[in-house]
This record gives sequence, structure tokens and C-alpha cells, in this order.
Amino acid sequence: MLTLRNVDIHYGRVHAVRRVSLHVAPGEIVALIGANGAGKTTLLSAISGLMRVSGGDIEFDGRCIASEKPERIVRLGLSHVPERRLVFGPMSVADNLLLGAYTKFRRREVAADLDEIYAMFPVLRDRHNQQAAALSGGEQQMLAIGRALMARPRCLLLDEPGMGLAPQICKEIFRHVVTLRRDKGLTVLLVEQNAKSALAVADRGYVLETGRVLLSGTSEELLANHDVRRAYLGRE
Ligand code: ATP
Repeated sequence: MLTLRNVDIHYGRVHAVRRVSLHVAPGEIVALIGANGAGKTTLLSAISGLMRVSGGDIEFDGRCIASEKPERIVRLGLSHVPERRLVFGPMSVADNLLLGAYTKFRRREVAADLDEIYAMFPVLRDRHNQQAAALSGGEQQMLAIGRALMARPRCLLLDEPGMGLAPQICKEIFRHVVTLRRDKGLTVLLVEQNAKSALAVADRGYVLETGRVLLSGTSEELLANHDVRRAYLGRE
């Protein structure tokens, strides 16, 4: 569904991503793990069209998207839930969700999607009139995911959904990710510093270090790998 081949990305003279190749098959949850500054966020931004690649290509459903505009990429079925959630604090919960439907025009469709999001995250229904800024971190993460789902994506890019959340809340968010795959057949590329949580829900993973793919494998393989355990799980 999503394939990256030899992708290079620069910030001026900083070579942030170096010849990265990876793929995500339909219905898979794939984790991209790595320390601060490894290039994870940069890579997701390039997939969703927010950054340009300086080399290589990105294919989504067989179509090259490396030079497409972000709104076109959303229309093709790929939605990005950014790092730190980035909800619009002064706006209501409902209006934040409706922003995610900007690619759609049919009111009935939008209302049905909104109902579906509220069924999935009842706390958002309860607080639909409140300012997004008043929500807790976990609720804001649900809102950010809900907003991305309003575009009816087939593939979701999730950037550190567990960041700054208590372990229990983090687990709840990851449970929602698994449910979305099960119930909607959603494909997920999940970026996480917390390798343990990410690999607990992912089918496969890639380990990124200073812009390069260092290792890849099934979650079981990575969880058992000596280097991964030492560098990312604080063991051995
Ligand atoms: P984090 O978990 O902290 O978000 P990350 O793995 O997502 O880390 P990136 O944010 O993608 O890493 O950063 C990759 C590299 O690109 C780092 O060396 C970083 O310093 C550099 N970088 C990121 N954003 C910029 C920018 N706007 N200008 C210059 N260099 C940048």
C-alpha cells in the first residue's frame, strides 16, 4: 500500500533521512522506532506531502505521491496525525473534528462520520461543545485521531501518539489503533520512541538511527533483538 524507495530528505545542508526504503502492506500496523532526532517525524512529513524529498520515491497504492500536495494526499486516503497532537485549542471539539472533513462536501456523510467518531470516543461526544484546549492529553490525542479519521483514510500516519501520556492512557490509545485496524481494515504507520508499546501492537517494525534504517523485522524479532533491547527497551 505504501512504499518508500531510497528516500533522502534534507533541511538545507542537514541530511536528515538517508536512502530509507520501507513498505507497509494493506491492513498492517508497522512501527517506526528510533531515538530523538532519528528522522521519524521528517519521514512522516514527507509521506504526507508536508516536506519534499531530495531523492528516492514514495508510492501510495501504486501512485507516486512524492511531489503531490498534502490535500491531494489526504484525498487519496492517507491521513497524518501529527506529533504533539496539534489540535486547535480555542475551537470546540466538534469544530476540530469538522476540520478533518474539509475534503468532503456531502453533509449527510459528514454527520454520519461524526457519529461514528463519537461512538468510538464517547468522551468527545460528551465534550463536543467544549474548547479542545480544555481536554486532557489523552482526550486531545483521541481528538487528533478522530479529526484524521473524518477524512475517511485507508492509511493512517501516527506520530508519537503516546507522547507525554500516562502509561495507562497510552495503552488505551494503542488499543484504539488495534480496533481501527480490526473494524475498519485501516493500515497504520506508527512512529514511536516508546519501542515497547509500539512493538506490542505492530506486526512489523523498522529501527531508524541517524536517518538510516538500521534494522527491520517482525515485532517478535525486534523485541528479541539484543541491540533493540539494549538501546530501546533498557534491558541487557
Ligand atoms: P523526535 O522524536 O525528536 O521528533 P525524530 O526521529 O522525529 O525525533 P526528526 O524531528 O525527524 O527526528 O529530525 C531528524 C533530523 O533532522 C534531526 O537531526 C533534526 O535536528 C533535523 N531537523 C528536524 N527539523 C529540522 C528543521 N526544521 N531544520 C533543520 N534541521 C531539522
